[in-house]
Amino acid sequence: MPAGTLYVVSTPLGNLEDITFRALRVLREVDTVACEDTRRTGLLLQHFNIETPMVACHEHNESRRAREIAARLQAGESMALVSDAGTPTISDPGYRIVRSALDAGLRVVPVPGPCAVTAALAASGLPTDAFLFRGFLPRRRAKRRAAIGDLRGASVTLVLYEAPHRIVDTLADIDAILPGRKVVLAREVTKVHEEFLSGTAAELRRELAGRPAVRGEIVLLIGPADGSQERSDVSLRARVEELESAGLGRMDAIKIAAREVGIGKRAAYSSLEREHRH
Ligand code: SAM
Repeated sequence: MPAGTLYVVSTPLGNLEDITFRALRVLREVDTVACEDTRRTGLLLQHFNIETPMVACHEHNESRRAREIAARLQAGESMALVSDAGTPTISDPGYRIVRSALDAGLRVVPVPGPCAVTAALAASGLPTDAFLFRGFLPRRRAKRRAAIGDLRGASVTLVLYEAPHRIVDTLADIDAILPGRKVVLAREVTKVHEEFLSGTAAELRRELAGRPAVRGEIVLLIGPADGSQERSDVSLRARVEELESAGLGRMDAIKIAAREVGIGKRAAYSSLEREHRH
């Protein structure tokens, strides 16, 4: 193994057959594997009879670990960075480690493989020529709705990660803000209960709300607007009314409509006030 090199190694999302030959060789040959959870990565290494020592590196100690790892690499060690599943740094820890290795002038080498974004997108049937990965949306409803509103103008496939206990609410928000778009929900990709559902957000919401529980890991993909579904020249007032009738409070509706129309919140309030007075 070349000394002082950091390998960013993708690992399976669920199906262990998805590990690559190169990932196995690198994990076996490096001096140390930096991982999120030593128990979880320990099971993966054990399954493939790999005995490389591990060092835990998660969200809470990443900055400190990033400096330590850069120092160890500078001292001549080779290291692999993995996360619990999929590709490190993609909605997972690792960015700071990569950054500090590069800042220290060290070599960072990707060992590509599974990633939920590309796996779900490739099988979704939605356009793949351009897409926007937005990671996890904010947990709070008002912020989540504002974030979805921000994506309205992007005429590409949107890819989101979402937790199973929030998916029904998020689909309701998408229905309110991006009505009529094609939506694909990819659940438990590569695992025993893999499922792809497609329809509008309203249809998928009804389907999932009718189930006793929604479990597993989910990628949500939203097709681009086809032009007839959404008006780009939407007037502020009409859009506020549309959002209110979809169940949003007046303040949230104004905030989202203002962003979509491309004006500030205050300007939107005063424009609506003015219209009201006339
Ligand atoms: N770095 C990972 C990757 O490369 O995909 C993602 C890590 S992120 C903490 C975990 C989220 O990824 C899950 O909440 C889910 O949204 C998505 N995800 C991971 N594995 C998945 C799977 N097998 N099926 C569907 N979504 C998955």
